[in-house]
Amino acid sequence: MKESGYNFFVKYEPDNILLGYNCVSGGLLVFPGQQHDVINKILENPDKVEDSIIKEKLIKGRFLIDDDLDEIQLLKFRNNTARFNPNGLGMVITPTLLCNFDCPYCYVDRERVAMSPETVAKMKLFFDKKIEHIGAAAACWSGGEPILAIDTVEELNNYFRKKSLEEDITFSSSVITNGYLLSPEIVERLTQCGISVLQITIDGYREHHNRFRRTQGGQDTYEKILENVIYASKKDFKIILRSNIQKENYQGVYQLIDELADSDLKKDNILYVPCNVMAVETNRGHYCGNCFSNEEFSAIEPEILEYSMNRGFKLSKHLLSTTSTFCGANSLTLFVIDAYANVMKCWCNLGRADKNMTGSIGQNGEINYSNHKNILKWMSWDPFDIDECKKCRVLPACMGGCMYHNVMGETDEIGVGCSQRKYNLSQMMKLYYEFCKRNGHAKLQDIGLLKNKT
Ligand code: SF4
Ligand code: SF4
Repeated sequence: MKESGYNFFVKYEPDNILLGYNCVSGGLLVFPGQQHDVINKILENPDKVEDSIIKEKLIKGRFLIDDDLDEIQLLKFRNNTARFNPNGLGMVITPTLLCNFDCPYCYVDRERVAMSPETVAKMKLFFDKKIEHIGAAAACWSGGEPILAIDTVEELNNYFRKKSLEEDITFSSSVITNGYLLSPEIVERLTQCGISVLQITIDGYREHHNRFRRTQGGQDTYEKILENVIYASKKDFKIILRSNIQKENYQGVYQLIDELADSDLKKDNILYVPCNVMAVETNRGHYCGNCFSNEEFSAIEPEILEYSMNRGFKLSKHLLSTTSTFCGANSLTLFVIDAYANVMKCWCNLGRADKNMTGSIGQNGEINYSNHKNILKWMSWDPFDIDECKKCRVLPACMGGCMYHNVMGETDEIGVGCSQRKYNLSQMMKLYYEFCKRNGHAKLQDIGLLKNKT
């Protein structure tokens, strides 16, 4: 046997324990602090030490692996299987690119367009064709502001649900909305068409948020969104509440968390996610007001999450998860579809179909690929071609990071899209352990053990 190349160990002083995380299996193991030396000895020379409970645990968690297992090959297999597996369908659909907000960092160019009845008909045929041989499909309604096209969302989501039921495939759907128009009536309509997952952005505390996320007419939006989030949480929507963090709003997120925690929000239904703002080129120019680098953001991310946990919010189980691909942009089965039924690979290409589309959905629901260069540049992007990634110890949790800047030819630099785990994995191990402990995780010794079977 030999030691995995993806083991991480960190002491957690408050409980006098040693946490071990294997980034390939996703297993987080808990050992008494005094076992550190014994563990090191086993890992250094596994075949020369006798079998023991500790050794067995290390084998089970894949901290120790067979001599002839090439972990890079294993990860590559996982990545290829996910990218080229035809047995699924992921759709990011923008029923309109129109928006009622005017956020400075928005990468979507807000053309005044909504899906026509002809395009809606094409979308139905596209779905019919795609689900013939798959087991699962998912739709994420995005924009622009998708609630501005609620009729289209309803019609298509109802259709996708009905068809999926008939074909016996799993279907899930979610909406990314700015939350401003999420009235009780809209909440009811979303519920009726089977949508119960929302992603809503609040960019820090009142004054920061209102500076970044104003209506097109220049009105404040904080109070309205907060009121709507609270209402939807009580109606049992699962809400991913996101804050885009920049240097100027970073301190305000603590006040936001406090205000949320002190409200009558149903906390169990909220996942608070602080995010780094990504600098992208738009038709309106380059935006990155006062962004953190990935490394800088990685230093504050655990602090913010710890604060939210201390105020009663849960942490995502994906905090320490392994992944097969960073996102779907270089996968065969992910389609980003705009209101004209143009098809793209990346969310950040929305609103710029002229340059970035790979093709469009035709009258019979088929995809007419018209720009093979765009398909090739996304589909041929492979983290296993990049030496830094192949050597990187968080590769199984990142798989090459966000490829946007590299694929779009803006830079050859590796690191612009790196996962935050490259810099803050140890803090996340401690935080996730603490969260599991406080929430009475049934088997603290084996948190998340063997999430990945390959
Ligand atoms: S993108 Fe960065 S963090 Fe991700 S695998 Fe490559 S080097 Fe590692
Ligand atoms: S490439 Fe980056 S920006 Fe594009 S969908 Fe993936 S994570 Fe998002």
